[in-house]
Amino acid sequence: MTLTIPFDNSYARLPEAFHVRLEPARVAAPKLIAFNAGLAAELGIGGTEDPLLAAIFAGNTLPEGAEPLAQIYAGHQFGGFSPQLGDGRALLLGEVVDKAGVRRDIQLKGSGPTPFSRRGDGRAALGPVLREYLLSEAMHALGVPSTRALAAVRSGEDVYRETILPGAVFTRVAASHIRVGTFQLFASRQQYPELHQLFEYTRDRHYPEAKTPGEMLAAVCQRQAELVAHWMSLGFIHGVMNTDNCTLSGETIDYGPCAFMDQYHPDTVYSSIDQHGRYAYQAQADIIVWNMAQLATAMVPLVQDQEAAVAEFTEIINAMPNLIRGAWLTRFGFKLGIAAPAPEDARLIADLLHLMQAGGSDFTNTFRALAAGSARDEIADRGAYDPWHARWQERIAGDAGAAPRMRAANPAFIPRNHRVEQAIAAAMSGDESLFHHLGAVLARPYDDQPEAEDLRRPPLPGEVVRATFCG
Ligand code: AMP
Ligand code: MG
Ligand code: MG
Repeated sequence: MTLTIPFDNSYARLPEAFHVRLEPARVAAPKLIAFNAGLAAELGIGGTEDPLLAAIFAGNTLPEGAEPLAQIYAGHQFGGFSPQLGDGRALLLGEVVDKAGVRRDIQLKGSGPTPFSRRGDGRAALGPVLREYLLSEAMHALGVPSTRALAAVRSGEDVYRETILPGAVFTRVAASHIRVGTFQLFASRQQYPELHQLFEYTRDRHYPEAKTPGEMLAAVCQRQAELVAHWMSLGFIHGVMNTDNCTLSGETIDYGPCAFMDQYHPDTVYSSIDQHGRYAYQAQADIIVWNMAQLATAMVPLVQDQEAAVAEFTEIINAMPNLIRGAWLTRFGFKLGIAAPAPEDARLIADLLHLMQAGGSDFTNTFRALAAGSARDEIADRGAYDPWHARWQERIAGDAGAAPRMRAANPAFIPRNHRVEQAIAAAMSGDESLFHHLGAVLARPYDDQPEAEDLRRPPLPGEVVRATFCG
């Protein structure tokens, strides 16, 4: 049986300035860790019994129709502009039009050096590959727009970081890999014909209803506002919201140092390289506006009347904080079971968050406990909780939909950092069963799974993960 991927490549048809064609580097001894059969079916991939699956998703054997290429882009990293980044360890194999008619990218990550590798080795370590697999699939199961995981393969080679680590190759599926940084590349180089082509390509692929650059910018801002509010409603901290990690499609991308917080605190930071908290939990709502302002700046040359463009785009960016507040209110309102959250409810939400912050409550478990009637147990200051509880009960009184609404907005299971670390540590010593078990539980995050109750437990003092690292 031969694996068949119904490639229908469009990015490869764009001019030279958009990419560099090259083949993945071979690895020594590919061994399949995970293959996402459900996603493969969605993509119309056939012949998945192929014994060469590991070789294909390691980059050793190219599937028929693949046209591998490294995409070029730029980006602001921690606020400083890098005029040229690009896929330094990834290759787009091509695209498929999925069963729902949506064009999706299939990309190998860890597939060897490219002209954009700079000082990097083009490789990925096993740990970060398993992290991205678990986290991106968990986000999808939680209902958050996200890139997906199709496969993870051990390379049979060592990679050199601070220590020697086992290597792996990850296969990522995305609505596209077009980033804010892709627009910034052509704008900063004043490559305006290419900038126009990129705009038209992006519009046709993601926003066919947009008639002008301004309409597309507004639509991207809307999606990103909803995305960040969705992250925050789940306690998710992306960790590296550089403009090259910010998609035009509105999907979450780059699962490097991201984390779900355990104890609630708005200033929480996990990423070891985020020393000033630029990408802290609460800061995400401001940073996404900054990122969209960079996109707007890069899109100005698309409009003949530049002055008019600046005025129009400024208005779009200035409207974003309100969009985020609205999306935040809806998400957190649902978490409290409120059917039609109104601006007055922001107080009720904020007061609960303050109680949680003061006593270091577990974010996920406190919200999940609301529908079960046991939230009081999660709050340190019970005396302060009781009057809040009375106000909340009054707000949702008589609404039979409140409890199911809460259960659908407040997951029982998130990929807790200590569990992800434990699964990775086990896989490093050859046991992949924890990784698979965690993945199976996280595929149904809103279901009670009594047999997996231990995966709901916050970390014990000795288990707390304080820092995450880019792979
Ligand atoms: P990130 O921080 O993951 O968004 O990566 C920033 C840039 O560094 C991207 O252009 C990556 O392709 C590149 N990069 C990250 N790790 C490596 C590596 N091991 N080898 C080559 N390039 C890398
Ligand atoms: Mg990145
Ligand atoms: Mg990364």
